[in-house]
Formats: sequence, structure tokens, C-alpha cells
Amino acid sequence: MENVRKTIIIGSGCAGLTAAIYAARANLKPLLVEGHEPGGQLSLTTLVENFPGFPEGIQGPDLIENMHRQAQRFGAEYLTGDLISADLKNYPFTLKIGPDTLRTETLIIASGASARWLGLPSEMALIGHGVSSCATCDGFFFRDKEIVVIGGGDSAMEEALFLTRFATKVTIIHRREHFRASKIMLDRARAHPNIQFLPNTVVADVHDVSKNEVTGLRLRNVKTGESWDFPTSAMFLGIGHIPNAKMFGDQLDVDQDGYLLTRDYVFTRVPGVYACGDVQDRRYRQAVTAAGTGCMAALEVEKFLEARGE
Ligand code: NAP
Repeated sequence: MENVRKTIIIGSGCAGLTAAIYAARANLKPLLVEGHEPGGQLSLTTLVENFPGFPEGIQGPDLIENMHRQAQRFGAEYLTGDLISADLKNYPFTLKIGPDTLRTETLIIASGASARWLGLPSEMALIGHGVSSCATCDGFFFRDKEIVVIGGGDSAMEEALFLTRFATKVTIIHRREHFRASKIMLDRARAHPNIQFLPNTVVADVHDVSKNEVTGLRLRNVKTGESWDFPTSAMFLGIGHIPNAKMFGDQLDVDQDGYLLTRDYVFTRVPGVYACGDVQDRRYRQAVTAAGTGCMAALEVEKFLEARGE
């Protein structure tokens, strides 16, 4: 087919890059589309200690950069742009990516998941002015300040521990008594002298939109109903992620939270379209599992094209 790619990969995180390595080594000349969060969540993290093969750990951005170069070495090509729409009903598939319209025989969706926000108007108004979802990006700006981290999972613990490099005090605010974080991460945060915990507490408002900076939070204890003002210079969100799958509309199946539904790991309901990584994995969400499903998606692309006699 003329001007039709063998495969296009949407997403440049661990899943997409692993798919690119496999597809490139299979001579499929994959085109990998990097959106507005290039490198995915690993590029926003610090030391990754649980990716096999790195006994001392590896920095997330370095791991991504290595995978990027590895795929490129075998012929993967990269395009920067956001996927605006996709026609998966007609074959070959048509994708609108920024100003470009591209056609492809197979599609690997590895678009990941984006940071979740609380949804308060004051929070939205102060993003970039003391409200952030990326400790590694913005922590540096709050040297010698007091900082709040919202959330009770591993992300919140990781952010809080990272932010102790800059902040004089980090307060983890969590809406429940029980923490979802793994024991090792929770223990590390609990053992840190500059981290304090405020459980059973929610943020009702972020001050001060009129000053265009964060000066404090209005907090509420969900058990007692008590409300109070808590001074802080920054609020970092570590409350999970939302899958990036809206652009496929009703052409693919999703669960109640918008995660793509797959069968046999990576198959979507459209033949030739595969999904891998965090956009379809609400259970494990690890770099290594994303890499694993990225590999599977690329192998299925090979099989699909082979079956079509290509
Ligand atoms: P998560 O495990 O889903 O935790 C999200 C946390 O945010 C939960 O405690 C949740 O509270 C809270 N939350 C969600 N929506 C909220 C809202 N609207 N207001 C207030 N709080 C809210 O997400 P995650 O921490 O990003 O972790 C995701 C996955 O990545 C996990 O599998 C985790 O193990 C992994 N991870 C691993 C590492 C590491 O090993 N270094 C680092 C980061 C992430 P509830 O508990 O009440 O639901």
C-alpha cells in the first residue's frame, strides 16, 4: 500500500518505546508519535529501583533516553504531535496528528495516563504557580520552603521523599486513614524527619489566586468536619492518573474509568489495533509491565501483517 505505514505507535513512554524496539528490529520502520508528555511518566520520575538489570537503579529520564536511542538504532522514526482523531473503522487506519494525516496498516496505542487533579477552580488557576503534578520538574523552585503533597499511594510517597531535597518540611495530606502506598515507600516516608502526615484530610480550597501564588490551603478533616487554614508554598498532586484514550471515542472498548479494555493482554476489538502500557493497565502500572505489553503489541503487529501476507 502506497503512503501507508506498516505500523504507527502512539506514545513514547516505556510501552511505546519497547514496542518501537521490537517493531524496528522486525524491519517494520515504526513511526512513534511523541505527544505533549514525551517519555511518559518515567521521564517525570527520579531513581527507578525496580527495573530489572540496574542493580544500583537508573534515573527514569535516562532509562527513557536509552530506549529511545535503542529503537532509533534499528530504524524507528519519531514524530512530535498530538493525536487529534483516529478513524479505526476504515482500513487502513487514518490518524490526524497535528497538521498531518497519516495512514497505517496497524496501530499500537501506548498513550499512557496523565496526572489527575483535584478539580478545584483555585487549584486550576494556580497550576504552574505553586500547584504542580511533577515534583522532579518543579521541586527545585521551592528550596527552603514548606510544601504539601496530596495522595496516599506510591507516587505521593515518592514525591514527598524527593521534595525533602529542597523543602524544609513536607506534609503528606491524604483523604483516608489507610495508605495505598507499598510498605517500603510508606516506611521510608514515615522515617523521614522532615515529612509529616495529615490523614483523613481533604483540600477544600487553594489560597491565594489573587496573589497568583500558593500561600496556603483550606483543609477539612473528613472525620471531625473541622476546617482550618494551613500555610504552605506549594501543593504537589500525587493522586493517580487518567488514561489517555478519549481520542478513540466509541471505536474501542473502555472501562468505567476510561482505561482501554483488551483481551489476551493487548488485543482491542479492532483487528490490527493493539493497546499496551498504562492506557490499558489499571492493575500493575509498572515500567516493566508496560515494557512487557509493549513487546507483546509489537509481536502481534508482526503476526497480523504476516497473516495478511506481508
Ligand atoms: P494510586 O496507587 O492509585 O494512588 C492514588 C492515591 O491518590 C490514593 O491514595 C487515592 O486515595 C488518592 N486520590 C485519588 N483521587 C483523589 C482525589 N480526588 N482526592 C484526594 N486523593 C485522591 O496512584 P499512584 O500513587 O500514582 O501509583 C500508581 C501505580 O504506580 C501503583 O501501582 C504504584 O505502586 C506505582 N508506583 C510505584 C512507584 C515506585 O515503586 N517507586 C512510584 C510511583 C508509583 P485512596 O487511597 O483513598 O483511593
